[in-house]
Amino acid sequence: MKFSINPALFNLKFFLYGFILFIGFYTFKSCSNDEPKPLLNESTFLSDNYKFGYNFNNFNIVYDTIQKGDSFGEILEKNKLVYPKIHYIAEATKEVFDIRQLRIGKPYIMLFSKDGSDQPLVFIYQQNKIEYLVVEFCDTIKAYQQRKPIKIVEKEAFGVIESSLSETMEAQGLPVQLIYEMSDDIYAWTIDFFRLQKGDSFKVIYKQRFVEDSIYAGIERIDAAYFEHKGEPIYAFDFITPESKTSTDYYDLSGKSLQKAFLKSPIKFSRISSRYNLNRRIALYGNRVRPHKGTDFAAPVGTPILATANGTVVESTRRGGNGKYVKIRHNATYSTQYLHMSRRLVNVGDFVKQGDVIGKVGMTGNTSGPHVCYRFWKNGRQVDPFLQKLPDAKALPDKYKTEFLAYIAPLKQRLDSIN
Ligand SMILES: [Zn+2]
Repeated sequence: MKFSINPALFNLKFFLYGFILFIGFYTFKSCSNDEPKPLLNESTFLSDNYKFGYNFNNFNIVYDTIQKGDSFGEILEKNKLVYPKIHYIAEATKEVFDIRQLRIGKPYIMLFSKDGSDQPLVFIYQQNKIEYLVVEFCDTIKAYQQRKPIKIVEKEAFGVIESSLSETMEAQGLPVQLIYEMSDDIYAWTIDFFRLQKGDSFKVIYKQRFVEDSIYAGIERIDAAYFEHKGEPIYAFDFITPESKTSTDYYDLSGKSLQKAFLKSPIKFSRISSRYNLNRRIALYGNRVRPHKGTDFAAPVGTPILATANGTVVESTRRGGNGKYVKIRHNATYSTQYLHMSRRLVNVGDFVKQGDVIGKVGMTGNTSGPHVCYRFWKNGRQVDPFLQKLPDAKALPDKYKTEFLAYIAPLKQRLDSIN
């Protein structure tokens, strides 16, 4: 997107005010006077020093990094740009970029005219390896966000687990993001990565992004993967349907989704007695707001409590108002917690499967009747499970089956031939 503003048209009142104050010693630097326009807008790659849309040979270049306490205004002030202009620049750029969001440690570049002028002509802020913001301070202030051209390279990898997936993948120099996507996205619901066995193996076909030909800029997509755990192979194919529109649905050879939904309730036959409610008022506490960050399922003492999804027990203890409780980590994103148990039936480190009995309903801790308080954690915060867009366990709709099978056949063949 390109956005530009003529400062003379912008906020006329302010402009006049600034103009009166600064008239005589302040004028806008005109790029066209100091630099022939084509230098700023060169469209052909005339030089191998052509970067961010500019021929760097034509400017004095200053490379710097955002320091603690730096603001865009201060950076400009240090570079001899005075207040009214900074204000226009802030206004002109706000449509494309919030200049308050400059992050410490991010690099930026200033282009100065070769005539030795101490006011920069261009400010380039690099948000990440791909995106950057350009602000031109010329007679017209121009701000726009750009992306460097990305080259997508297809890659394959194969490994045998010695101890952990991450160790095996890191030893091969594979990107960390690939490890996370394999363990926390594709196979999070089917393989317990804390319990891999020596000899388990993986294969993966993926696309990697590069900018400027050689700078790694992340994983674009994992097209297909294979994981052999305890001798059992699990294929995963990324397949996009018009309904899914995202690339996060992975299916096995038969078109079954690798993601598993959570059980709706940790108790088989029960009713919800109190929902997640951040504004709950309780008479017992003087009618003050006592947020309820769980969902209560009422059931008689001794009723089995089920793990709502596969995961590893990370807490099993008795503490204060929670009473006896169990907490299960399902993957990097989700954990669930079950309070007020009369008995805990699992220990820290145990791997539990969806539907396994992990304890019995009780009245331990702060509770007025037998129930399980079910707490749902997403990225370390308690949320209402009924409002979450949770992983879908649905199989691929039948109408896509033929297309799916045709799509995965060559991918499977390639996976099988990686060695
Ligand atoms: Zn509760």
